Amino acid sequence: MHPLTTSLLAELPGLSADQRHQRLQAIGRLPGDEAATVALEILENMDEGTGVLAAMACADTLQRLGRPDQLERLRAVRATVPSFGGLRDWRADIDGALAAVEAVAQQGCRCKAVHANNTAPWGPEFEQLERVEEEYVSVVTVRCVSCGQTYRVTVDDSYHYPMFSWH
Ligand SMILES: [Zn+2]
Repeated sequence: MHPLTTSLLAELPGLSADQRHQRLQAIGRLPGDEAATVALEILENMDEGTGVLAAMACADTLQRLGRPDQLERLRAVRATVPSFGGLRDWRADIDGALAAVEAVAQQGCRCKAVHANNTAPWGPEFEQLERVEEEYVSVVTVRCVSCGQTYRVTVDDSYHYPMFSWH
């Protein structure tokens, strides 16, 4: 196990939910391979004391940085992690990570998974090229910084929160 995983697992149960989340968001800023390694190890060893926000931070890290060689372990984790109950099943975040890593394995770039998800906002893995305001929506052209593929995204701000639709 990575030494950071060992120390985090010992530390997490004593922290508040917010502190856990912040602590695990910080691993997303480690060099890519290391961040993905620690995030997966945390999920493999989590229990009720780890907390749902911390688990979501790990899933987010794996969505951005997870590697094809981690796919089998990620599938196994999805089947065994606690659900925690709640209105929304947080394990959907692991499904997002799985889709992203599968896209890397099969199609060479995780942007294909964001595109397939269709309803997500874009993150720092895309640069915004152009934004055209239309009558009810904005149409934004974004480019994947990894592979250069461009996508058009419709952003509808007329609801309580912005809604995204990828083309
Ligand atoms: Zn891409």
